[in-house]
Amino acid sequence: MRLLLVEDDPMIGAGVQRGLKQEGHTVDWVRDGAAAELAIADGVYELILLDLGLPRKSGLELLAGLRRKGVATPVLVITARDSVADRVKGLDAGADDYLVKPFDLDELSARIRALTRRQGGRASPVIEVGPLALDPAKHVVTLGGSPVALSKREFTLLHALMKQPGMPLSRAQIEESLYGWDEEIESNAVEVYIHSLRRKLGADRIRNVRGVGYMVPSES
Ligand code: CA
Repeated sequence: MRLLLVEDDPMIGAGVQRGLKQEGHTVDWVRDGAAAELAIADGVYELILLDLGLPRKSGLELLAGLRRKGVATPVLVITARDSVADRVKGLDAGADDYLVKPFDLDELSARIRALTRRQGGRASPVIEVGPLALDPAKHVVTLGGSPVALSKREFTLLHALMKQPGMPLSRAQIEESLYGWDEEIESNAVEVYIHSLRRKLGADRIRNVRGVGYMVPSES
């Protein structure tokens, strides 16, 4: 999943970015509120991790502005301020969840999964489409109950497709979910990953929608 991390503390920012990348997420990192606003305008993020004490524009101000504009992307506030008043202000401004520093990366990951699950309208952590099942927490994919070994990027790509079965994703949307700013997109990479997924899962599990992109059929 592609996340935006808004954090001005270099140590915390680097640690969170590294940890979430290891989990297979694509993480872009900005260090102030104004840069965050520009990045969010691109609309490619599934979740925003937002520090409140930021230079150029405070996290609260940024968050309130986003919600006023109707940007519904889930926001997880991460902050050192642990007073009840600050927490309430953050939630009132439109935050979906709250984590007080210092926090454990495992807890952050679990909350990210919970938030994006809710966003997708699912209560169960495992996504199932026909005989295919994907568990975002355990990073496990099974086909008819048997585990299938996937690379990190194959997993991320399949996850993006399975979140919206029957709805195709364009090549550009897939690239956006797979790569951050600092990563070079290899040419034909999407085709290579699709080819590899089809080889592992069966060709009919991922359909090519001519002129549109790729999808996991809703009843495969
Ligand atoms: Ca800060």
